Amino acid sequence: MTPQIEISHVEKHYGAFHALKDIDLTIPKGSFVALVGPSGCGKSTLLRSIAGLESITSGDLRIAGERMNEMPPRKRDVAMVFQSYALYPHMNVLGNLTYSLRFKGVAKADAREKANRVASTIGLEKLLDRYPRELSGGQRQRVAMGRAIIREPKAFLFDEPLSNLDAALRVHMRMEVRALHDRLGATSVYVTHDQIEAMTMADHVVVMRDGRIEQQGSPLTLYDTPANRFVAGFIGSPAMNFVDGHGSEDGHSVRLDALPGAPVLPLDRRVEPGRPVVAGLRPEHLFSGGETQFSVPIRVVESTGSIAYYTTDTDPELMLVEQGRGKLRSGDSAALSIAPGDIHLFDPMTGLAL
Ligand code: ATP
Repeated sequence: MTPQIEISHVEKHYGAFHALKDIDLTIPKGSFVALVGPSGCGKSTLLRSIAGLESITSGDLRIAGERMNEMPPRKRDVAMVFQSYALYPHMNVLGNLTYSLRFKGVAKADAREKANRVASTIGLEKLLDRYPRELSGGQRQRVAMGRAIIREPKAFLFDEPLSNLDAALRVHMRMEVRALHDRLGATSVYVTHDQIEAMTMADHVVVMRDGRIEQQGSPLTLYDTPANRFVAGFIGSPAMNFVDGHGSEDGHSVRLDALPGAPVLPLDRRVEPGRPVVAGLRPEHLFSGGETQFSVPIRVVESTGSIAYYTTDTDPELMLVEQGRGKLRSGDSAALSIAPGDIHLFDPMTGLAL
């Protein structure tokens, strides 16, 4: 597949602050890529660098094969969609949609026809006469997207576009954005701090921390084979549990020293006997239905009806989840087991997956 955006060895310094460190990322045409990571990790800086709103200090940035390093934003042929919508308040929806075309000198009738087409693509046909203040949050977000679509850009760049919407609408809009991307055959780069949004929308997820890419890959690759403890803890909800332990004498199991009774769990690979490790146990893997391997007391129960969350009375605390209303109460003991293939191991010093 042709790369639509190619980022190689990109560095960004804001004065003494090193905001992007050796970023390499190839975005194929037609793909949906999410940039995700905690606040301040550099995801907006990377997106804004693609848009040309920030200059890069070194490295190369190409869009559709053309080097963009010094290209001004308006010549890059990309469209940004922000959470703040950035609609013109004094223009109705039609005016907002056609503004960029009119600015480029497209004839009024042609611009109008195009706006009608875009409006019907995103379900705004009946709202063309409304002003932004007369629209709901979701409708405004749709106008913002319509305004990007009408320009037929080489890529859509989304900067947390859904974070102002309430939870239910956010879930709905994330499907809409993804469906729209597919319908248009667009190339999209989507910044979010919400790993669930990233996992559900994107083909390719890029996890960033402190200006660096920690790991990139398909959502399930990141979930199944996190490269390090940071990615393991960031991807997945509720977050992975981490427990200190060490390799058993024969190297075929791990002893979890930090849990009551120091349970020994079989592995599907070998680990150096006696080697200190951090075991990563996902909450959803701890009731595997196998023979009980260890028991832990429950301290807190939180149930939504469809799923029960348990916090254990151990140090470290474990988070467990069970489908359904949940059978356990505070003070009960949870009988746990985990499949050998579901146990993740990390080096305690480097955090790298073993
Ligand atoms: P958030 O989710 O909070 O928006 P982010 O991952 O998008 O975070 P960026 O906005 O890319 O983070 O910022 C990355 C780092 O660069 C932050 O530590 C920020 O303080 C710093 N930074 C951003 N813009 C500037 C600037 N103009 N001058 C100096 N430092 C900046």
